[in-house]
Amino acid sequence: MKLMTTVHTVERLRQIFGDQLHVNEPLARHTTARVGGAAELFLTVTSSEELLAAVEVAYSAGVSYFILGGGSNILVADSGISGLVILNRARKVSYRHNGAGVVCTAESGANLSSIARQCISKGLGGLEWAIGIPGTVGGAVVGNAGAHGSDIDSRLLAATIWEPGRGVRVYNREDMKYGYRTSVLKQDAVTGRPRRVILSAELQLNPEPVEVISARAEGFSAHRKEHQPGGASTGSMFKNPENYYAGYLIDTAGLKGFSVGDAAISEKHANFFINQGDATAEDVRSLIAEAWNSVREQFGIEMELEVELVGDWNFE
Ligand SMILES: Cc1cc2nc3c(=O)[nH]c(=O)nc-3n(C[C@H](O)[C@H](O)[C@H](O)COP(=O)(O)OP(=O)(O)OC[C@H]3O[C@@H](n4cnc5c(N)ncnc54)[C@H](O)[C@@H]3O)c2cc1C
Repeated sequence: MKLMTTVHTVERLRQIFGDQLHVNEPLARHTTARVGGAAELFLTVTSSEELLAAVEVAYSAGVSYFILGGGSNILVADSGISGLVILNRARKVSYRHNGAGVVCTAESGANLSSIARQCISKGLGGLEWAIGIPGTVGGAVVGNAGAHGSDIDSRLLAATIWEPGRGVRVYNREDMKYGYRTSVLKQDAVTGRPRRVILSAELQLNPEPVEVISARAEGFSAHRKEHQPGGASTGSMFKNPENYYAGYLIDTAGLKGFSVGDAAISEKHANFFINQGDATAEDVRSLIAEAWNSVREQFGIEMELEVELVGDWNFE
């Protein structure tokens, strides 16, 4: 891949971050689908201060930047991502009491499922649904991750967010304009404007007996195990259209087990597209096209992707 960023930016990032900066890092290593090309520049940050410094350097130099959490809700193009990819490993987590219970403040690179487990062991209810959802707090807050009838929207008190050209400010829950798997920040990707960056988030929890919340979490885990396949995937590929399940529509269109190259639509759950080994992003995209077209033809429903296609796609 050609280096598109300026030598000056690379030098500046090296000055600040030293060996944390890499060139041409394969992103398949950092995504749950295990597909995708390389990041032109790849930087791992371990605190929200480092995350902020990195985006500010990139933004002021006019270099495009992309925040990578767990890579569990994205499909990276085979030709990779130009500019700077920042792998977010800022993971500090703390707890404090407030009038309504306990607030968990987490840096955006913290693992959501680990926090959910921690809360259960502390007797703090409210995040059991997040057990088994891969990825970071940042990714979950952007996409309004959810399961089993609950979501981030129901738990977020506030998020500390960096706005390009404006600096850091606090968004409360209403500012996030949450909907089903969407938020104002998720819309940044659609409009193509420089993206806002979540530095940390505050989640509201309620004290409950450990046995009660453990039992709830175990029920959710058992349900997930029964209905979802293992293997390398991005989880649900499409959002559920109103009054339907995307998996049911794809299954009824006869596509369970359908494959292109090494990518296959799961036999267990048709909204999961599995990398069976050496799938390319293009293989997965062909499956997406097949599922979308078949469902449209048979049901007249145009499904919307839940997963975000990122990087240098050739959409001809
Ligand atoms: C097996 C499996 C099961 C899943 N089950 C569920 C489920 O039950 N419910 C559900 O909602 N999702 C589910 N998902 C999808 C996924 O795990 C969630 O969407 C998750 O919240 C994504 O987090 P991430 O850190 O991996 O985000 P990534 O995929 O790394 O990023 C997603 C988007 O968020 C942006 N982003 C990430 N961090 C930040 C930040 N700090 N600031 C600004 N932007 C940021 C990225 O730039 C990108 O645009 C599943 C996925 C898999 C693989």
